[in-house]
Amino acid sequence: MSLRHGRPYLAIPGPSVMPDRVLSAMHRAAPNIYGGALLDMTDTIIDDLRRVARTTAHVTIYIGNGHAAWEAANANLFSRGDRALVAVTGQFGASWANTVERMGVRVERIDFGRRAPADPARIAEALAADKAHEIKAVLVTHVDTATSVRNDIAAIRAAMDASGHPALLAVDAIASLGCDPLHMDEWGIDVLVAASQKGLMTPPGLGFVWFSDKAREACRASDLRTPYWDWEPRAFPSEYWQLFFGTAPTHHLFGLREALTMLLDEEGLEAVWSRHKALAGAVWAAFGAWGAAGDIALNIADPACRGCSVTAARIGGAAARLRQWCEEEAGVTLGIGLGMAEPSDPAYGDFLRVAHMGHVNAHMTLGVLAVMESGMRALKIPHGPGALDAAAQVVSGAA
Ligand SMILES: *Cc1c(COP(=O)(O)O)cnc(C)c1O
Repeated sequence: MSLRHGRPYLAIPGPSVMPDRVLSAMHRAAPNIYGGALLDMTDTIIDDLRRVARTTAHVTIYIGNGHAAWEAANANLFSRGDRALVAVTGQFGASWANTVERMGVRVERIDFGRRAPADPARIAEALAADKAHEIKAVLVTHVDTATSVRNDIAAIRAAMDASGHPALLAVDAIASLGCDPLHMDEWGIDVLVAASQKGLMTPPGLGFVWFSDKAREACRASDLRTPYWDWEPRAFPSEYWQLFFGTAPTHHLFGLREALTMLLDEEGLEAVWSRHKALAGAVWAAFGAWGAAGDIALNIADPACRGCSVTAARIGGAAARLRQWCEEEAGVTLGIGLGMAEPSDPAYGDFLRVAHMGHVNAHMTLGVLAVMESGMRALKIPHGPGALDAAAQVVSGAA
């Protein structure tokens, strides 16, 4: 007997839970890609992609995942031999740095470890040391999905401005857009990267890059561009096909249209942010109680530095067993730890991640926590009492 039979729940940080309405919107015959409703709908999507990022910047849509969106940003930002400064606060910042490096850019990494956000002062110092202004852009992950740290983008921009260095600021918001507050224009972001399958509640397959006029001008001569990745014809098309440099991702567009309507016009973006914050708060409260006894702890100690879409935590010696129990006995799949320790390190298997991004509500997140508590009891993993009370307390106060 197993209690997993029922609707399974994938609580990993992407792909996220998708609304049935998004899936239903995709279930249709192939539309004409040379005229009609699809073309008009795409215009509304571009407008709404600006709304969701709080920007008036230019928007491009690529058929690809987050890695594709990274390469799109890289190709437009840089020329071979340019320099990039990357703030690394987890596996995703490290991986973005690797992609830029492999494309022929000279990369300087500042590694802030796995348990703290980027320190804007150190970024400013590195820029100040670059007297020749060779660094073309600073790359930062808003929420690093591996560590669940959230970087303070506005503070990084302020430090960059204070240093008097002209570098552009490029931000990976793949795990935060539609989950955590994000204000592209107000925060002075020049290039923003995101993808469809996390806060935007749409299947994996669309990558997005927003770029400011300033970035457009600064990058006109970038020589890493190839026809497919070039953001110019995509953002300023004279024909529809140029938006996607070929066949449009027709069904993904119908799904995304539905998701953006739900986020922006029905629930409202600020309510979406508040929902993610409340659900994250419930998860953090539960971990606080569990951690009172036993080797259980949130990865990021300061709540102000935690992303609201995913929570990385240590469950000493038992994370893998607990994940397995939750999946096999209760139908909940939790995220694996990512890049938190080397495989040779005894702590390698100590981490897991709980996602609370996208189309998730109180009953889903409270259900995940109750399942985790059941697993801890079944597996005799030492933990403090009162986690579900603490989570319910947060939810009752937020609703
Ligand atoms: C998921 C994620 C990526 C990678 O996206 P893929 O679609 O898996 O290529 C990059 N950065 C962040 C912050 C992410 O959360």
